[in-house]
Amino acid sequence: MPSAYKRILLKVSGEALAGDNSFGIEPPFLQGIAKQIADVARTGTQVAIVVGGGNIFRGMAGAADGTDRVTADLMGMLGTMINALALSNAISRQGMKSKPFSAATMPSVADTFTARDAKQALEEGFVVVLGGGTGNPFFTTDTAATLRAIELECDVVLKGTKVDGVYTADPMKDPTATRYTTVSYDEVISQNLKVMDTAAFALARDNAMPIIVYALDDKAGLSGVLEGRGLSTRVGN
Ligand code: UDP
Repeated sequence: MPSAYKRILLKVSGEALAGDNSFGIEPPFLQGIAKQIADVARTGTQVAIVVGGGNIFRGMAGAADGTDRVTADLMGMLGTMINALALSNAISRQGMKSKPFSAATMPSVADTFTARDAKQALEEGFVVVLGGGTGNPFFTTDTAATLRAIELECDVVLKGTKVDGVYTADPMKDPTATRYTTVSYDEVISQNLKVMDTAAFALARDNAMPIIVYALDDKAGLSGVLEGRGLSTRVGN
């Protein structure tokens, strides 16, 4: 069944690709995510993906070990490109056309991201996989996801996490925490509910871009979440 959305932006964290490990790419998890994405794309929904890189390198960790932050963040952005190539290829192996783009110029690796080219690829039926984050240090791929969703005129950002939505407190630590069905941008920012970083939420709020937070292992899968089955929280106005 096609979802209510014409074009979505999915944020896939590096952690999701590492599966049970903390480092690298686990083929079964890569293929599992690629299959969920291909299943949605097959229904006619246009899918853009921003990939993280936490399974390879985080700039903050590199900076803590003494590497200067700008260099460390460049290393982090290169990590996201490794994931983008892997995910784009895995989606192709699921039988859907897919094209990686890079925020940084590396012509022999991937086309450089422009909103114009990425939109055209989406219109042509490609799943586009966007690596390199925003292309700038001191940002995260969560902010990149919101930014690209706005640039590409997506209907919604989907953010898969370990839990099935936004809770009043961290449900891993506080058993009395309850899940919001909907919550405002201002509330997630003021309550410091750390599902995405503040910059990502502020950008979404200022451009009225809704964010759906759901569990990556939801039994209904990504397509089910998009169709309103499965558990999630909608962050909006
Ligand atoms: N990064 C960056 N600018 C961006 C996006 C990412 O410098 O616009 C770097 C940053 O060092 C970050 C790393 O890339 O730690 C990996 O991205 P992120 O931590 O967002 O990945 P995730 O947590 O989603 O796996």
